[in-house]
Amino acid sequence: MTTPTLPRRFSARLRPLAAVLLLASGLAHAQALEVAASFSVLGDLVSQVGGERVKVRTLVGPDADAHAFQPRPSDAREVGGAALVVVNGLGFDDWMLRLARAGGFKGKVVVASDGIPTLAMSADDDHGHHHDHGHDHDRAEKGGKAVDPHAWQDVGNVRRYVANIADALTAADPAGATAYRDNAARYDAELQALDSEIRSTFGALPAERRKVVSSHAAFAYFGRAYGIEFLAPVGVSNNAEPTAKGVARLIRQLKAEKVPAVFIENVADPRLIERIRSESGATIGGTLYSDALSAADGPAPSYVKMMRANLGVIANALGAPTPAN
Ligand code: ZN
Repeated sequence: MTTPTLPRRFSARLRPLAAVLLLASGLAHAQALEVAASFSVLGDLVSQVGGERVKVRTLVGPDADAHAFQPRPSDAREVGGAALVVVNGLGFDDWMLRLARAGGFKGKVVVASDGIPTLAMSADDDHGHHHDHGHDHDRAEKGGKAVDPHAWQDVGNVRRYVANIADALTAADPAGATAYRDNAARYDAELQALDSEIRSTFGALPAERRKVVSSHAAFAYFGRAYGIEFLAPVGVSNNAEPTAKGVARLIRQLKAEKVPAVFIENVADPRLIERIRSESGATIGGTLYSDALSAADGPAPSYVKMMRANLGVIANALGAPTPAN
């Protein structure tokens, strides 16, 4: 009868080890760096770099519009208690800075977009006839012109975001330096591959098949990086009614230039795009993820998957060879 004693002997030997492991995981959990990120794309980037050393709290979650975010008092307390606050900057999420102040935040604010080549808003947006003037003070300026905040739509910019996040995590938690550097390097390689994939997919498209329509002006950085022109009935801030004149002009342009596809956005009401489709004769190309990821069971639960999902629907609508994955 040796068999019953074996497990007992093993478990007796393993017990101290198990206790140590439990203690270690308990400590790791207790010491996880608490990071507050303003919206879902940033939350994912922080998780990619931070791995198990960080606990990320994202304020504006999947499919939600950060332009129109209404914080609750409990949000201020949570942001105030974080060790690090990560924002996009460029006027996109200045409410996060006010929230941090209100919550008594004492740590460092990381502006993920620091150092990227910014784009000014289009002339149309600058005239301001279709965005919410109540939020004008939120917008960053570039040479007197408002800056377009949607810089994450260019993968090249996000490589910079990731480097900035890695530097900030390392400064806040020097013991994790190696982990952050390794995670950032692995993720950067993934981003480089994604960037090349987008470029090669669109590379062969003829000039007349490079124009599409989306709900709000969120894709200028994508357009600059990958050579696709996006037209939009609603401006950069996505929280005002477009003018009837502007929509009529857009529909005339779509017909004249035979723009093949219009896109719904995950953060916008689809009815306007549906109307533009029916009046212009274009087809609905699908849903683009502009300012938020999808839920975990959707097609865009991470930044890389979001860009691949967008690439897939745009390439398909424009007749570019769809990526093989
Ligand atoms: Zn937006």
